[in-house]
Amino acid sequence: MNCNQLLRYFCAYCKNRIWRLGRQGFKCIQCKLLVLVRKKSRNTVNKPNLTGDPNKPLDELEPVSQPQYSLDDFELIRVIGRGSYAKVLMVELKEVRQIYAMKVIKKALVKEGGNINWIRTEKHVFETVSNHPFLVGLHSCFQTPSRLFFVIEFVQGGDLTSHMQRERRLPEKHARFYAAEISLALNFLHGKGIIYRDLKLENVLLDHEGHIKLTDYGICKEGIRPGDTTSTFCGTPNYIAPEILCGEDYGFSVDWWSLGVLLYEILAGRSPFDIAGASENPDQNTEDYLFQVILKKTIRIPRSLSVRAANVLKGFLNRNPADRLGCPNPDAFTEITEHPFFESIDWDMLKQKKVIPPYKPRLSSDRDLANFPPEFTNEPVHLTPDDRRVIEKIDQSEFEGFEYVNPLLMSLEDCV
Ligand code: ATP
Ligand code: MG
Repeated sequence: MNCNQLLRYFCAYCKNRIWRLGRQGFKCIQCKLLVLVRKKSRNTVNKPNLTGDPNKPLDELEPVSQPQYSLDDFELIRVIGRGSYAKVLMVELKEVRQIYAMKVIKKALVKEGGNINWIRTEKHVFETVSNHPFLVGLHSCFQTPSRLFFVIEFVQGGDLTSHMQRERRLPEKHARFYAAEISLALNFLHGKGIIYRDLKLENVLLDHEGHIKLTDYGICKEGIRPGDTTSTFCGTPNYIAPEILCGEDYGFSVDWWSLGVLLYEILAGRSPFDIAGASENPDQNTEDYLFQVILKKTIRIPRSLSVRAANVLKGFLNRNPADRLGCPNPDAFTEITEHPFFESIDWDMLKQKKVIPPYKPRLSSDRDLANFPPEFTNEPVHLTPDDRRVIEKIDQSEFEGFEYVNPLLMSLEDCV
């Protein structure tokens, strides 16, 4: 780095000096934030006000008011996933040849439940968590008459469901690493007043090095202070905490229950609520039956697990949220970090992503899709043309203001 290139710009996130990369952008070498300063004249990206005051908080950066990106800016490369609402594509931002994931949601589907607030929540949580090492961050949002688009970090190692299908169950050392990184992500969300409410194998992604990233913030609950509760019945059946099933008010405790279910799944290779032969018995193959099992059935911990693993599972899977591991205030999180199961974890190193993951996804390039199921990657990538009759029924005013560009664009690459 030549001294002439040293300009006084500071990262608004980690407060370190940002070194100039050349004409196109600035990058903080500490936290790897990247700021674009040049774009097509049609839709120039504002340079955030990073100069002068390194203590200026993120939310005081210059707002970006106009739509910045559109579908034309991206090449759609492959379908990589689907959820109940979204189709997820791997895309390239043409101008900088950077790969992103694009979560595409049909507006007609957003309206289905009558309430579109979850889309605002999803967007706001994406904004809040951008640049956290274990949470998928947002690059930009835009819309067409029929669809909403979230351009987000592409997480290349696939999700934990695919990983578990290959491995069936994981050694305790691997499970400990994933559970510890997930705990840090959940604790960060809780610190921001957010209950995640959708922890499950499909929503835990692995990055190219093997670190975890949580995604999918569609059913998060925001604005929760310590001790606050909420009451909406939601989640994915197998992971729903007993207090939600009982219709009680609940708080952050529900996420620690789901972590218990997930940790059990990766250690045992099956759900704690699997019932042998249930799939053949129509009476036992219902959601209601599953909920009864979650509420009442004794959870059997496989004998092959160590005492520490068995104890941490019993701690998270305590049906009483007041006694659950990670729940009693104050210092709820310390209870987790100090649990004997996590004894070998160096939490400070882990936070800094300095602990080497137990498994590194095999990848031949930044576009290798080996970790995504062929049922998705073989799908045609195009978006179906807009249907005028569907669009006429959409009240576009409800989606006003959806456009967004992250003023601190993220990149894993060394240059723009
Ligand atoms: P749900 O059914 O849980 O509500 P959804 O419709 O909100 O899901 P997502 O969970 O966000 O959709 O995404 C669906 C799938 O796409 C994920 O399970 C994952 O396999 C893949 N996926 C999502 N985001 C990314 C990403 N950033 N990088 C790589 N793959 C992703
Ligand atoms: Mg999902």
